[in-house]
Amino acid sequence: MNKSERLKQRMLELARNLWWTWHPEALDVWRSIDAGLWRESRHSPVVFMKRLGKERLEEACKDPSLCIRIHRVFSDLDRYMESASTWGCLHAGPLRARPVTYFCAEFGIHESLPLYSGGLGVLAGDHLKSASDLGIPMVGVSLFYREGYFRQRLSEAGEQISDYELFDPEDLPLVRVKDRDGNPLTIDLPIQGDRVQIGAWTAALGRVPLFFLDMEKAFREMGIQELGRRLYGGDEAVRLSQEIILGIGGMKLLLSLGIKPGVIHLNEGHCAFAPLEYARHLTEEHGISFDSALKQAGSRTLFTTHTSVPAGHDRFASSLIDRMLWQYRGSLGLGHEEFMDLGRVYPGNADDPFCMTVLALKTASKSNAVSSIHGKVSREMWRDLWPDRSPQQIPIGHITNGINVLGWLAPSMKQLFHQYFPPDWESRIGEENTWLHIYSIPDEELWNVIVFLKTRQFKFLPGAPHRAHPKASLSDPRALTIGFARRFAGYKRACLLLDDPVRLWRLLSDSDRPVQIAFSGKAHPRDDIGKALVRKVYQFVTEPRIAGKAVFIEDYDINVCRHLVQGIDLWLNTPRQGYEACGTSGMKVALNGGLNLSILDGWWPEGYTGNNGFAIRGSRNENNGIRDERDREAVFEALEKEVIPLYYKQDEDGVPRDWVRRIKQAMCTLGWRFSSDRMVKDYTDHCYRPAAGISTCEMNIPFV
Ligand SMILES: *Cc1c(COP(=O)(O)O)cnc(C)c1O
Repeated sequence: MNKSERLKQRMLELARNLWWTWHPEALDVWRSIDAGLWRESRHSPVVFMKRLGKERLEEACKDPSLCIRIHRVFSDLDRYMESASTWGCLHAGPLRARPVTYFCAEFGIHESLPLYSGGLGVLAGDHLKSASDLGIPMVGVSLFYREGYFRQRLSEAGEQISDYELFDPEDLPLVRVKDRDGNPLTIDLPIQGDRVQIGAWTAALGRVPLFFLDMEKAFREMGIQELGRRLYGGDEAVRLSQEIILGIGGMKLLLSLGIKPGVIHLNEGHCAFAPLEYARHLTEEHGISFDSALKQAGSRTLFTTHTSVPAGHDRFASSLIDRMLWQYRGSLGLGHEEFMDLGRVYPGNADDPFCMTVLALKTASKSNAVSSIHGKVSREMWRDLWPDRSPQQIPIGHITNGINVLGWLAPSMKQLFHQYFPPDWESRIGEENTWLHIYSIPDEELWNVIVFLKTRQFKFLPGAPHRAHPKASLSDPRALTIGFARRFAGYKRACLLLDDPVRLWRLLSDSDRPVQIAFSGKAHPRDDIGKALVRKVYQFVTEPRIAGKAVFIEDYDINVCRHLVQGIDLWLNTPRQGYEACGTSGMKVALNGGLNLSILDGWWPEGYTGNNGFAIRGSRNENNGIRDERDREAVFEALEKEVIPLYYKQDEDGVPRDWVRRIKQAMCTLGWRFSSDRMVKDYTDHCYRPAAGISTCEMNIPFV
C-alpha cells in the first residue's frame, strides 16, 4: 500500500467512528483537505470520502503540516480507544460483563446523521459521548428513520415547508449488523397478526456501539411507506408500531447478539416495551412466571421522563393496543385488560388509555426527571399512580441534564483553555476545581476570543447552509447580539417580545447601544400554533426597517445551534413557568462566553447564582394573557436596566469588564455542573450500579 492509500484507509476508519463529531481537531481534517467538498458533502465524511479524488488525496500527502495534523488525530483516536485508565474502569468495571443498554427514539450526534428532532435526541447523543469518554460500558438502541426529521424551509409568506429526503444508509457512517454466517441479521417481531422482519445498523461512538433498527421491510409488509420512515411522522398506529419495534425489537436484537443488559435505561417513554420483552425472555429462559420475571426486569430498569407538557406523553387507545399487540400479549400470558392495566393510571378503568410513561413508571425500579423543578412537576403530575402517598413521597427523583463539553466548545475557546487549564483538564470536565482556572485568563484575552467568535458567526449567518431569512444579515458584530433558538412550541413563547413592537423597536433602533436578534427554530409539522409563531417571527424580521437588526435562520439543527451558541452574547429563554423540563442550549452558550437571560424554569434555578447571568421569576398567574404580559414587562426591564447597561459599560480598550466578570462566573459555576460527564457519573453512582446489583465493595477492585 502506498502512502495515499494508507491515508485513505485510516480516513475511512476515522469516518466510521463518530468520535470525530465531538473532537473538532478531527473535524478539521476533512475541512482542511477540501473545504468546498466538505460543504458539498453536507459535513458527511462518508460522502466526502466517496467523492474525494485520488489527486486531492495525493496532494494532501505532500503537505507536511497537514500530514502531521492528520496523523496526530489518528493517534489521538488510537489512544482514546485503547485507554484503560478511565473513570469507568474504576467505578463501573463490572458493567463490562453486562452493559448499560440505553434506549431512545432519537439520537442527535451530528448534522450529517439526521435521526433526531431536538433536545431529547441531542441529550441522548451527548449521554453516549460522555459514557464513551468516561469508559462506562454502554450500548445505545434506537430506530433508523430513512427520511429522518424534516428540513425546514420558509415560503415568501413565512409558511413553514417541511422537506423530507430519503437517505441511503450507505452514505451514513453505519454498518449493517450481520448474523454468525455473515448474512444481514433479521429479527422476527409480532405486530398485529403478522410476523414482520426488522434489520439493524450499527454506528461506533468512540467506545460505545449504537444500534439502529431498520423498519423498512416491516413497514413495507404492513403497507406503511413514507410515514413509517419519519421521526414522529405518522399517526397513532405508525407511532405505536415504531415504539413496538424500538422496545421489543431492540431488546430482541441485543439478546440475539448475546448482549445481556445489566441496566435497561429508558430515555423517555417511547421505548418502554423493552423491559417487557426482557421479562418474556426470562420466562422462557428460567421457566418463571411473567409476574416475577417482570419484577426482575424492572429491578434493572431505570426510566427518565423528559416533559412537563401533559400532551407530550404518548397515549394509545385500548382498541389500537388490542389490534397491534394481541399476539404479543398472548406470548406474555396476559389478557387484554391485564395488559392495558400495565399502562393505565387507573387500573380497571376502561376509559383510561395506555400511556407509555405510565408503563415505564410502573416497570422501572427507579425513575427520574431531568431537573430539580421538573422533578417536582413530575411528582405532582403522576401522583395518582401512588394514591396513598403524599406528593413528596412519589418515587420520581431527578438528575439534571448536561452537555458534552468537548462537543459544544468552540475550538478557539478550547485553545484558550489549553493555555490556562491543567494539562489533563479534558478528562476532568465534570470536576469543579478544573473550572476555577477560568479566573487566570486575562479579561482582554477572553474578550478577544469572544469577539473573534462573534465575527465568525456573522460570516456564517448569511451563508447558513440553508439560506437565512431575510437575505440581509445582522449588521454589527460589536452590537449586543441576542439569540433565541429552540423548538417553536407555544409555551416557549418565541413572540414574547414581538408582542410589544414599540418597545422592541426602541431597543433595536438605538444607535448608541444597538441590540440585534437572531431567531431560529422548527415547529412540529402538525403544530399549527408553533407554525403561526414561525410565521409571525418571519414577518417581523422581513419588515424593511428591521433589516440588519433581526434575522430568522432556517432549518435549526445541530450545525445551526453550534454556530449560534458559539457566537452570541445573550441567550434568551422565555418559557411559561413550569413547562420547561430542563433545556440544554443555555448550557452550551455559557461554555462559549455568552450569558443567559432566562425565566427561572428548567435547569436555570439550579444554575443561576445571582451573578452568572440574568434571571426572571416567571409569573404563575392562571390566565395566560396576564402571565405573558407580566413576563414581557420583566424581560424588557431586565434588558433595559441590567443587560444593556452592563454590556455597554466598556473601558477605553473596549473591554466590558463587569460583563466579562459575569462570563467568568458563568463558565466557572456552570461548566462542570451542567456537563454530561457530571450527569453520566451521577447516573452511574445513583442508578446504574444499584440497578445492576453491583455492591460498593466490588467497586474497590478496579476492573482491568
Ligand atoms: C441543544 C439542542 C437543543 C436543546 O436545547 P433547548 O434548550 O432544550 O431548546 C435542541 N435542538 C438542537 C439542535 C440542539 O443542539
